[in-house]
Amino acid sequence: MRERILLCLAHMSGKEQYYIDEAFKDNWVVPMGPNVDGFESDLECFVNSLEGGASLDRKVVGLSAGTAAIHLALIACGVQPGDEVIVQTFTFCASSHPVMYVGATPVFVDSEPDSWNMDPDLLEKAIEDRIAKTGKKPKAIIPVALYGMPYQIDRIMEIGNRYGIPVIEDAAEGFGSRFDGQVLGTFGRYGVLSFNGNKMITTSGGGALICKDEADKKEIMFYATQARESYPYYQHERIGYNYRMSNICAGIGRGQMTILEEHIAHHKHVQQLYCELFKDVEGITMHENPSPRYDSNFWLCAATISPEIRVKGQENAYSEIISGSVGGAAGVTHAAKVATTDCQPNSNVEALRIALDAANIEARPLWKPMHKQPVYKNMPAYLNGVSESLFKVGICLPAGPYVSDDDVRYIVDTIKENIIR
Ligand SMILES: *Cc1c(COP(=O)(O)O)cnc(C)c1O
Repeated sequence: MRERILLCLAHMSGKEQYYIDEAFKDNWVVPMGPNVDGFESDLECFVNSLEGGASLDRKVVGLSAGTAAIHLALIACGVQPGDEVIVQTFTFCASSHPVMYVGATPVFVDSEPDSWNMDPDLLEKAIEDRIAKTGKKPKAIIPVALYGMPYQIDRIMEIGNRYGIPVIEDAAEGFGSRFDGQVLGTFGRYGVLSFNGNKMITTSGGGALICKDEADKKEIMFYATQARESYPYYQHERIGYNYRMSNICAGIGRGQMTILEEHIAHHKHVQQLYCELFKDVEGITMHENPSPRYDSNFWLCAATISPEIRVKGQENAYSEIISGSVGGAAGVTHAAKVATTDCQPNSNVEALRIALDAANIEARPLWKPMHKQPVYKNMPAYLNGVSESLFKVGICLPAGPYVSDDDVRYIVDTIKENIIR
């Protein structure tokens, strides 16, 4: 049997161990130190690079998670209990959960069909309607680079600037993706990166916040280190958090930065191969860059499956409760009581997932939109049906550094074999 092909498995450069050893040798086994500084400076160098040799001047703070980065960005934007924050509904929960942490209300905005990300027209409609209904402007806008695909950041920034609402870019899945040649996360007031185990690069767990300048970076560092005032003793005038990145994790990050470009190139190559191999398969469509302005890292390769396609065993999809959360969730299982919910992928998509699983290939449904999540059912939402209909027909296919050309052919062949023509 072949090795299981995972969605996006972490891949080491071999240099990680060197930086970790340095940290132990110099006794920097703490959430600060030379690796944190070095990793931040590597990140700054990467995100600031523009095509053609020019460069930006953003600053980066290393943090314990991408989720922490969003939380701190919201605090720095002055989001208070009772405020509203506009969030792309088609996302992973980490985009919106921090809005709840600060006691604010997420206002969900649907996607446009080209990038699958925040629809700028609907965003503007939502802002106008929230002002009309509450008498207050939303405090921030969070677009998300779903599966690495850039959002329409030119239009989103124009709207944010016109209304005076800061944009927090959730580029956790889009590290290294570009729009008009500029790295995602560097357009908005803040930009969020994640280095979780399955992201573009990993620090085992970790994240970063891209800041506009040194002053913003200092403020984020202050909140990330328990908001300590400068006295010889602990003096606290604000509530802070323990969100700084560990010097050991940053060592892994420095090693990973040496293969970042290689990883991105590989993800793009895998995407291109899927596109080629699915070209003659009617009813299966890869999610591609909508125009040359978009330059996705293709963190995950996503496809849509037409409801007309019949897949072997689809009459039995959802007949059993699946044990285990998506992605293993670090071994934590919160058992489901029923096999179905009121909004789920079509049965041909689920049958395909099961068939791929049996062939030792990990596939995953698209992220279920936040406005369809029971925990967010009472939150305001501005919808056009795009994210919900994509969720029903979409599937994520393996794309990581370990996925070979042969693996892609095997995955595509397995899918073709399971389609009934
Ligand atoms: C992974 C992810 C995050 C959060 O990152 P962590 O480092 O896992 O906390 C935020 N937003 C999106 C869209 C993500 O996929």
